[in-house]
Amino acid sequence: MSHTIIIGGGIIGLCSAYYLQKDGQQVTVVERGDITDGCSFGNMGYMSPSHFVPLASPGIIAEGFKYMLSSSSPFYVKPRLDMDFIKWAWHFYKNSTAENVKRSAPHLNNILKLSRQLMDDMRDELGDRFDMEAKGCFMMCKGKEALDHEYHLADDAEKLGLIVERLNAAEVQAMEPDVELNVSGAVLFKDDCHFNPGKLMILLKENLQQKGVQFALNNRVTGFESSAGKVNAVITDKGKISGDHFVISTGSWIPEVSKMLGIKLLLQPGKGYSHTYDHVEKNIRYPAILVDGRCAITPWGHKLRIGGTMELSGINNKVLVKRMQGIYDSAKAFYPGLKIEMPAADKIWNGLRPVTPDGLPYIAKTNEYNNVIVAGGHAMLGISQGTGTGLVVSQLVADKKTEIDLSAFNLNRFK
Ligand SMILES: Cc1cc2nc3c(=O)[nH]c(=O)nc-3n(C[C@H](O)[C@H](O)[C@H](O)COP(=O)(O)OP(=O)(O)OC[C@H]3O[C@@H](n4cnc5c(N)ncnc54)[C@H](O)[C@@H]3O)c2cc1C
Repeated sequence: MSHTIIIGGGIIGLCSAYYLQKDGQQVTVVERGDITDGCSFGNMGYMSPSHFVPLASPGIIAEGFKYMLSSSSPFYVKPRLDMDFIKWAWHFYKNSTAENVKRSAPHLNNILKLSRQLMDDMRDELGDRFDMEAKGCFMMCKGKEALDHEYHLADDAEKLGLIVERLNAAEVQAMEPDVELNVSGAVLFKDDCHFNPGKLMILLKENLQQKGVQFALNNRVTGFESSAGKVNAVITDKGKISGDHFVISTGSWIPEVSKMLGIKLLLQPGKGYSHTYDHVEKNIRYPAILVDGRCAITPWGHKLRIGGTMELSGINNKVLVKRMQGIYDSAKAFYPGLKIEMPAADKIWNGLRPVTPDGLPYIAKTNEYNNVIVAGGHAMLGISQGTGTGLVVSQLVADKKTEIDLSAFNLNRFK
């Protein structure tokens, strides 16, 4: 039995551990925290096959410039003289094209669909304990222009085999009978599901511990030991852990950790905010992306989470209350009947999405070390691609044919 060391215990690390132990591997997860918070916890909890259009797409750059000067805007890029950021921004700019969407969408669609299928099996195993509901997700629009655009995207979605329903304002309102809406309509993507991501993370960790996966928590990886083109061990601030295979799944810290092996990867943290209301008496029933409100809303029974923004300002956890205000105002504008208050500053959660320049993840063995795999950079879709990524990582470790073609997720595409 060979021993795989997974560095980083977010959704990608835990899903990789899940499929590796199923494949009979000995697994150790090395995590600098204690797996109780982070990007994989406070997100919106959507598993979205509907999101087959990558972040780097036409219009995103213009949108970035439009919003740059507003402190409550949903998209913000902090200009700075940092060579890694400048290179990333150049490749992001080059990839924000219709060709990138055409090239990338089928690959995203493959991994999103695979992940969605695998999620049902994972739920069967973990039990119905993380508030998963498979009723779809609304792309909700206020303006006519946004709705026309979503209807058009729905045509593309159908071509990729997704099930969609186009709804006018009255039809959406009928599906949300307890809360007054102010929208022009929506598209319901029926293949999407949602769940409480924090609960899933805790259940997954418990499940893995029961199955014998080891957790080296509060261990920050600071280096590697290697010889003859192979890594033999990770060095942490607590000691050394030896293994046969190594998976770098450190989310926004992938560049920092891969650099320890001399591997340069372009990736930037994209900060997002959320707030969770513990009890909303008259709550909505469906999760929704508020398309022209540029934020999202997720119910779990009487709980409700609102979230959004994409702030490219480097690795930091600074909270700008005005951005949360923007999210809150949007939610209220779409759902005037929701009885919720603007959250206090200390109740605003933030997390760093790992964003690559083309909106596709990195999932591949490194050229430099045949026993090192990088898995991450899923940006806004790490929860949506977690199970599929975990499965293919286990197949890469075992040198098996992977379930889907991974060529688009290679590590050398920005060289
Ligand atoms: C507001 C918001 C809403 C979102 N909503 C959704 C959604 O609805 N659906 C969806 O699919 N995605 C969503 N996302 C994106 C999703 O949350 C991320 O893509 C995903 O959590 C990334 O997971 P990860 O495992 O790659 O990284 P992370 O969760 O960041 O995990 C990386 C781990 O590596 C550890 N680490 C870092 N450096 C080291 C080191 N040197 N040594 C040891 N450990 C280290 C970190 O402590 C961390 O625990 C959202 C994100 C945000 C911010």
